[in-house]
Amino acid sequence: MGPLRSATAQSGISFEELRRQQLQKLRAGLTDVLATNAFWRARLHDVQGWDDFERLPLTTKSELLQDQVSRAPFGSNLTYPIERYVRLHQTSGSSGDQPLRWLDTAESWEWWVRIWADHVYRAAGVTAADRIFFAFSFGPFIGFWSAFGGAHRLGALCISGGAMTSEQRVRNMLDVGASVLLSTPTYALRLAGVADEIGLNLSAAGIRTTIHAGEPGASIPATRDAIESAYSAASFDHTGMTELGPTGHSCSARDGVHLIESEFIFEVASDGELIATNLGRWGMPLIRYRTGDRVVVSREPCSCGSPFLKLVGGIRGRVDDMFTVRGVNLYPSQVEDIVRRHPAVADFVIERRRERQMDEVTVLIETSLDGFATDRLEADLRQALGVRLECRVVPVGTLPHSELKARRIVRVDG
Ligand SMILES: [Zn+2]
Repeated sequence: MGPLRSATAQSGISFEELRRQQLQKLRAGLTDVLATNAFWRARLHDVQGWDDFERLPLTTKSELLQDQVSRAPFGSNLTYPIERYVRLHQTSGSSGDQPLRWLDTAESWEWWVRIWADHVYRAAGVTAADRIFFAFSFGPFIGFWSAFGGAHRLGALCISGGAMTSEQRVRNMLDVGASVLLSTPTYALRLAGVADEIGLNLSAAGIRTTIHAGEPGASIPATRDAIESAYSAASFDHTGMTELGPTGHSCSARDGVHLIESEFIFEVASDGELIATNLGRWGMPLIRYRTGDRVVVSREPCSCGSPFLKLVGGIRGRVDDMFTVRGVNLYPSQVEDIVRRHPAVADFVIERRRERQMDEVTVLIETSLDGFATDRLEADLRQALGVRLECRVVPVGTLPHSELKARRIVRVDG
């Protein structure tokens, strides 16, 4: 794989200095891990230099799940006695896996919220003067709590939107004068739709910034345009994973997501899968973790001045979300970029069926517009993607709505 090297960073830290600091942090953190953490002791050896690091095995989510099954409930990836840990969260299990549990110490939680404050919020221009509305349920998923904790650390006014209907959230944002919204991109559009239905105008609400995670929407131009025009706001993308931490954010250049290389080591496998190692979560660390995200990276200097690597166009898709139509490989994000240019479409899902040894794909469309004709959308998809995708209108309320990641692909066996 090798280091992701190219031009020296435009400003701040040089590539060589960045690499030196990463190795130093890794070696310092591995001291405790190699002494006491059973999961990593069985897999790792001491790391003197980058050659040693690149010989370490890659780690998969299924290995972590397996470890938590066989050493329930938390698995063996624990560097300290259980009393040292102060938070337990778990993954959403949205991909059909059982949820993965993750523990944080006070130190590793501080690492999470510092990255939110110093990188994610800073890149979006959010300050202590902002009132941030979190349109989330505040369940066991870590993303809600880390975003909230980071905003608290920043000194902003943090407003929980848990346990509310969409209408209550819209009214609450307006009543308290929220200036920043955090949600998934799909849910931001849903809130805008609800505001329309009840005759409220979100574009005049004073929300100037929106930050989105869970789906790549804020890096998909058509989705970002739709959100920005609904709110009269600037929209930013954030990437992160329960088991890894907050990995990246978009910037004023609006063409991708910077990976926070001061807190992680990133590599890209030959098939484009992003591999990550965190450098501040030593109670339950991850070394050379296969994220399942397909990416294209660039180290060209960025107009925002960040010295960090950029995911061009954000995360392209999950490795296991790719589908093939008549020999053309596609990701849901490519379909989304076309679908979102049709404002009458409220939501969509890609339905896959296996028929006569062929993948057949239908795009199911929810729209409240009577007599919505799918011809224009089908023609746009065909022109952009080079294959024909059938589109079919389904009644409003048919598709699953979620404030977590929207499921864009549904498999139908037949
Ligand atoms: Zn940038």
